[in-house]
Amino acid sequence: MNRRLPLLEGRADATARCTYCPKLCRPACPVATVEGRETVTPWGKMRAMDELLRGVEPAEEASRAAMAWACTGCGRCATLCLLDNPVAETLFEGRADALANRIAPAPVSQLVAGWTDRRARLQEAALEARLVGAGARVAVVPGCRAVREDPAGARRTVRAVGEMVGACHAVGGECCGAPLWDAGDREGFFRQAARFVAAVGEDATELVVADAGCAWTLRTLYPQFGLAPERWTRVEHLSETAARKIDRLQPVAVDGDVAVHDSCRLGRGLGVYDAPRQVMERILGRALVALPTSHEHSSCSGGGGLLPITRPATARAIAEELAGEVREVGPDVAVVTSCTSSRSQLRKAGVRADDLADWIARSLGVAGDAD
Ligand code: SF4
Ligand code: SF4
Repeated sequence: MNRRLPLLEGRADATARCTYCPKLCRPACPVATVEGRETVTPWGKMRAMDELLRGVEPAEEASRAAMAWACTGCGRCATLCLLDNPVAETLFEGRADALANRIAPAPVSQLVAGWTDRRARLQEAALEARLVGAGARVAVVPGCRAVREDPAGARRTVRAVGEMVGACHAVGGECCGAPLWDAGDREGFFRQAARFVAAVGEDATELVVADAGCAWTLRTLYPQFGLAPERWTRVEHLSETAARKIDRLQPVAVDGDVAVHDSCRLGRGLGVYDAPRQVMERILGRALVALPTSHEHSSCSGGGGLLPITRPATARAIAEELAGEVREVGPDVAVVTSCTSSRSQLRKAGVRADDLADWIARSLGVAGDAD
């Protein structure tokens, strides 16, 4: 059956290129590694998109479409592809077309259908945690997950930014829209982005963003689609702000080895590798230990691209693989991450993992409930 697949049609060259390739990128894909099946290699997923474009039997459409979500968006395949083929970008366009054609996996459709309720719950949590504000030149984005799961920690993050840059206000009641982008709901994402921009307010010209995924969304997708107002002169990840203000950071006494995990969106996504290391070495007053994979080859935690809801067992297995890497370095290594999903994935896999934001707050003497 031939569907209307306008975004995938624009990627027909890319899907064809993978189809005829000897799969150079195969070892890079965390989903393919843990599932051990050809159908979920970057090649297999692009082939599924190619087949959707060519038309398959109605009974086979949903299984082909599901391949678009068998991806964390980690970008690791791009590091081994000699043809610069845009796999993640193509799969995410496949998501949008599949959702529009109502052949998306059920958890994805449920996320989109439940967005209004989810947004209301976030606003309620943010108001209760006093993470809504306006009027300052700097707006701090603590991240929805932090607001929902650790409101005191999110308040500490906002206070810590205040210690570094002066007056700032929190944007905790509106999501940047990243989950809708991952779901393939482009219109929903654009609507949510407009709400987010309104919540940042007219006065803010600089954003400090704690979560790597939010920072990537605001720095890549917003400009790409003309969603970022011109008055936003600087959108920084928190590690970059702390690196600029490094003299403000005070040492924190801690025993044992500490390693930085390069999250996919901050590292491969934004090219930010040095700032978290500079900040952590300043805080520790000594060198970090290195994980077996790092920088552009850093392993994915399995927390991105909605994989934890579309393929939960795979997401857990990917986290276990990363936990195994951490244990190769030492049984008690503490991991610092800038990605809330990675922190959650690593903790579930039994690794001591903390947000960089927590370390920065401790270093600046922001403790307790941060009131
Ligand atoms: S992403 Fe590149 S290396 Fe991987 S299958 Fe496609 S063309 Fe080949
Ligand atoms: S972006 Fe990551 S998860 Fe997606 S196909 Fe490439 S390597 Fe696999």
